[in-house]
Amino acid sequence: MRAQGRFLEWTLRVDPKVGLRHVGKCLICWESCVDTPSVDKARDWCLKHLGATGHTGFRLSAFEFFDAILTDHPSVNDTPADPDQGGATRPWAKAATVRT
Ligand SMILES: [Zn+2]
Repeated sequence: MRAQGRFLEWTLRVDPKVGLRHVGKCLICWESCVDTPSVDKARDWCLKHLGATGHTGFRLSAFEFFDAILTDHPSVNDTPADPDQGGATRPWAKAATVRT
């Protein structure tokens, strides 16, 4: 049981199975491509859409899926972080402390 008012450290961990995804979207008709791990494929979709429609305004966006893990919990601290599994040692992992 946790004491009230204790600060807990949480880390955001990227889902290594999915990674960064990219989506190209037309700003004229709002059509978009299927999300892809390749930024080049998303840009290629925009060029193909330009050729098919003449539409010239696009937005390329990237997103990722991640979860939050409690990093000061014994089940986390007693086990070395595994960078290949998206552990806390990944350089893009973000940490934040929140009060519970
Ligand atoms: Zn369009």
